[in-house]
Amino acid sequence: SKILFDGQIIDRDNLVDIEDRGYQFGDGVYEVIGVYEGRPFMMDEHLHRLKRSAGEIQLNLPFSLEEFRRQLNQLVKANHLDEGIIYLQVTRGAASRWHEFPGRGVRPKVTAYTRAEERMTQVEDQGGHAVLTEDIRWLRCDIKTLNLLPNVLAKQKAVENGAVEAILHRGDTVTEASASNVFIVKNGELFTHPANNYILNGITRQKVLEICRKINIPVHEQTYTVDELLAADEVFVTATKSDIIPILEVDGNQIGSGKPGATTGQILKQFRSLIHELVHT
Ligand code: PMP
Repeated sequence: SKILFDGQIIDRDNLVDIEDRGYQFGDGVYEVIGVYEGRPFMMDEHLHRLKRSAGEIQLNLPFSLEEFRRQLNQLVKANHLDEGIIYLQVTRGAASRWHEFPGRGVRPKVTAYTRAEERMTQVEDQGGHAVLTEDIRWLRCDIKTLNLLPNVLAKQKAVENGAVEAILHRGDTVTEASASNVFIVKNGELFTHPANNYILNGITRQKVLEICRKINIPVHEQTYTVDELLAADEVFVTATKSDIIPILEVDGNQIGSGKPGATTGQILKQFRSLIHELVHT
């Protein structure tokens, strides 16, 4: 398949410099953009978040967002991608290995590729289980950086326990999940952790909040505890491409009826109609 490398569409090859700062320090930022029937979903929102993440680590993006958009659309076409994702990352570039930023002559390295991936409609409809694990990440989880080791360890724990996600908590407070945001429904109202330094403000999360405002589901961007999570009527997680997944059990505790909830179903239906609109306009 083809990849995007420094602004050019080329064949995939082993092009990573062993002193690339992404490779050695995780010194870079990334985005994952969903593609539905050949159409990238909410690309502008993802690119704006990339710009923000880059700014927070003092990395100047080497292309304008316009130019990123153009190149990524070209990549999707070159790979004839129908269903899947675009992975885009920008590292601080390759330079002799010293912790401090390299000199001005070192250009950030932009790479992107696509991966074909089926839609996850079955797990979105049927739901899955989650495990709980302590959130051991740093205090800038709002930046989408390449440093994902705590997330990797958390997701591994989930998979080893037959769960779809690991829900993270800092002490008593639920933050998010290893690769998704977490929502609970109690008495018809929605709660999710506020978008601050403790979570990544998911693009899917923001869309879900917008949907709730539109269909008059009360939303509270407020913290809640592990006990409140376990006592919720419904729990669901949101992320790019897996959209909305109902969580039916957390660490062996059944949530609500143990079946995907009505409020979650309503939101999922609205979300799918947004995708349908994208694909058919
Ligand atoms: N939180 C974390 C830690 C993530 O890695 C992700 C992305 N997979 C999300 C939340 C969800 O963000 P988005 O909806 O933008 O994919």
